[in-house]
Amino acid sequence: MTDLRSTTLAGFADRFGHTALSLWSAPGRVNLIGEHTDYNEGFVFPFAIDRRTFAALRARRDGIARVASSLSDEIVEIPLASLDPDAVHGWSAYPLGVAWALGRFAELQPDRPGFDLYLDSDVPIGAGLSSSAAIESAVALALDDLWETGLNRRTLSRVGQLAENVAVGAPTGIMDQSASMLGEADAGVFLDCRSLDAEVIPLGFGPADLALVVIDTGVAHAHATGGYAARRASCEAGARALGVEALRDVSIADLEDARRILDDETFRRVRHIVTEDQRVLDTVRTLREHGPTAIGPLLTASHASMRDDFEISVPELDLAVEAALAAGALGARMTGGGFGGAAIALTPVDRINDVAAAVRFEFGSAGFGAPTVFTVAPSQGARRED
Ligand code: ADP
Ligand code: MG
Repeated sequence: MTDLRSTTLAGFADRFGHTALSLWSAPGRVNLIGEHTDYNEGFVFPFAIDRRTFAALRARRDGIARVASSLSDEIVEIPLASLDPDAVHGWSAYPLGVAWALGRFAELQPDRPGFDLYLDSDVPIGAGLSSSAAIESAVALALDDLWETGLNRRTLSRVGQLAENVAVGAPTGIMDQSASMLGEADAGVFLDCRSLDAEVIPLGFGPADLALVVIDTGVAHAHATGGYAARRASCEAGARALGVEALRDVSIADLEDARRILDDETFRRVRHIVTEDQRVLDTVRTLREHGPTAIGPLLTASHASMRDDFEISVPELDLAVEAALAAGALGARMTGGGFGGAAIALTPVDRINDVAAAVRFEFGSAGFGAPTVFTVAPSQGARRED
């Protein structure tokens, strides 16, 4: 395995011609359960994974920010005084957007130091594991220290989100950054997307001999943007018709009335959100009362709801879930926004190979492209590494 600590420090020295003075890292995340509930002010339950983005840093006295990455040949340079969402582009909008966004949450000194920053990562890009939150969280923690802004981790999550929303221009919620900032080893981050209250809940996968298998279908999110906007619009229409601020306010018992009031499609969209919120709560309760081996059916029910009611699955994701379950997974579901991307399968450790083999075999038989299968472990959130 590559040692990211040393490749990041070596990459910094190579690009900038001097050594880094501090080293930071932050993980990607996987969402265990709670899909499309975030913008309905409901519940999500992601965890930070054992794939991380590293950021090496050295202060500069001239008020200039320079950023470089193992993924790019360029060094992007800008005076701190010129930082603005319109002035940052491409991949550098993530780290420089964070540098800008910190100033929206903290009083920054006009004479604060500039910096050289170099990034290296083993979080797969664009696979639904949130390499974007990993880069944002690593940079936010590094600059919070450099500029002594003293922001807490919840606020630093919002710094990352603001950078992504405004500097990058992606309308994402707070889930990814919260998982990356607040995650702990062998635990998930139970997040209330209305109050932004977050609670770290032990997962206990290791002691139960369970692993989380990720099956990246490799299917690009072809309808992702349009489909996401359409689902959001349906949820908003449903909430309006039901006279609530957000679907968070609709209970399972209200669904009978909702069926009478709403057209069939809107009703099914609403039913997914309402039942998914309940499944997140049930997952947390089940973990506490019965441990992780008991949460499988909730994951599988979440998939059925996304496939049938929310209609955001694709044949590759359905097949991944079915094959994993048939090969011994306790529960499985697509994860992420849908229309492609990855599925997860909660799997006894001694069945991991069976699950991987079954998924590859079924994909081959169906004429689908080969999936990428690997495990992720719940890991610690953003941290200083030196
Ligand atoms: P995901 O978060 O699912 O991986 P996104 O499209 O949200 O996908 O974010 C990926 C983008 O984030 C990349 O295209 C790149 O611009 C930026 N990015 C992530 N990690 C790095 C990195 N280590 N170095 C440079 N840019 C990165
Ligand atoms: Mg992302």
